[in-house]
Amino acid sequence: MAFEYAPAPESRSIVDLQSSYGLFIDGAFVDTTDGRSFKSVSPATEEVLAEITEAGPGDVDRAVKAARRAHTRVWGPMSGAERAKYLYRIARILQERARELAVLESLDNGKPIKESRDVDVPLVAAYFFYYAGWADKLGYAGFGPNPKSLGVAGQVIPWNFPLLMLAWKIAPALACGNTVVLKPAETTSLTALAFAEICQQADLPPGVVNIVTGAGDTGRALVEHDDVDKVAFTGSTEVGKAIARAVAGTDKKVTLELGGKAANIVFDDAPIDQAIEGIVNGIFFNQGHVCCAGSRLLVQESVADEVLDRLKRRMATLRVGDPLDKNTDVGAINSAEQLAKIRALSEVGEAEGAERWSAPCELPERGFWFPPTIFTGVSQAHRIAREEIFGPVLSVLTFRTPAEAVEKANNTPFGLSAGVWTDKGSRILWMANQLRAGVVWANTFNRFDPTSPFGGYKESGYGREGGRHGLEAYLNA
Ligand code: NAD
Repeated sequence: MAFEYAPAPESRSIVDLQSSYGLFIDGAFVDTTDGRSFKSVSPATEEVLAEITEAGPGDVDRAVKAARRAHTRVWGPMSGAERAKYLYRIARILQERARELAVLESLDNGKPIKESRDVDVPLVAAYFFYYAGWADKLGYAGFGPNPKSLGVAGQVIPWNFPLLMLAWKIAPALACGNTVVLKPAETTSLTALAFAEICQQADLPPGVVNIVTGAGDTGRALVEHDDVDKVAFTGSTEVGKAIARAVAGTDKKVTLELGGKAANIVFDDAPIDQAIEGIVNGIFFNQGHVCCAGSRLLVQESVADEVLDRLKRRMATLRVGDPLDKNTDVGAINSAEQLAKIRALSEVGEAEGAERWSAPCELPERGFWFPPTIFTGVSQAHRIAREEIFGPVLSVLTFRTPAEAVEKANNTPFGLSAGVWTDKGSRILWMANQLRAGVVWANTFNRFDPTSPFGGYKESGYGREGGRHGLEAYLNA
């Protein structure tokens, strides 16, 4: 039984929600000229949070023109040291408004406040601080003595880490002297709009950052706009492929950060208690809405029973519920649509013969919820072992030898991340060399740092974000 905790809700009074939001173009919030509006709801309660603008092609064009003007006249010619001052200022304001941003993110996305407060928002500030530091040192980054910005970046991001993905996109772009038009995901626009206010607060020159809200059509209008020099996309492999086709034959530079189906590999000499925490963090962090989630557990056969037994006991202690409660471990599924996808693929898992087990927990009546779930008896051919579920669902497979673990781990169309749990340093290095994944974590999982590049192999995309490597995507080097 889970230990009983009294509710400890974080107050939402720090957030000043408006009933409706315009688009952020050329330094000001403006009305749409050819778009519409839609409602953004809280996934935990289905309460309408605000009316959001769905930008039309004319709005996107205005935003790209504003970004072009700002690049030509102000931001492009500005010295790196001057640009850095703005980025440091933004980073400091992000820290000052951290609590407000964490509450807003949890309200809009459904993720637990302890994650938005302790992971998302601190990392957002850290990425701005990190790239602010590069702005006046680009000549020493290994891309020639005087690398130039590309121009206008069109950036499209998903809903799982709304503000963090914004930071991964905007901080390096601005540090390198580019201006941006960013489109947040349709279910999570609010922190991007709060970021627009922060740009105003930091006196960022108008047009350097533009935020156009909307859904797929707005994203398409942005990435296909003729005057965009660089496209940066994070989202599903399907949309990533469509974007790659749309920009083929143009001069646009592209980076794509797409889906994943990571193997989290536990050897029999692993520190089992830590490995259990790593498995839980790997798949239940952010409700499993994580591109690099450890959604395939590969456990060595000799310890499989023990690991599963302990994992189930640990899962039974996870608290699922109100994202704003500081005790909550697993929050709400981001949308009704995503919940339907998770349910459908889980039913396929059962139909294919895998055994399903969910942690006993009471789910709230309103809102979108799915209990932490594992499937055992999974074979490599099962769809739940091959397709991204993007929810709190773990597929468990076993192996006998390191070679078999590598073969199974690499048997996927994706290649974003992997985890290795073992006592032996030499085995970690050997495995890291064999695994076809952009990030390999050893005796840990889901660790992020602005100095560390992140990106995929195969259908997980191309290009790297973060670290010195992340600069390359925004420089004419
Ligand atoms: P999605 O591809 O449906 O949407 C992502 C974004 O693209 C949204 O802003 C959406 O409005 C926009 N979009 C949709 N159609 C478009 C089009 N034709 N042209 C341009 N933009 C378009 O994905 P999602 O459901 O929002 O996010 C989940 C996916 O994102 C998962 O597959 C996950 O693995 C992936 N993801 C990857 C990373 C990474 O760094 N590799 C990080 C987070 C999420």
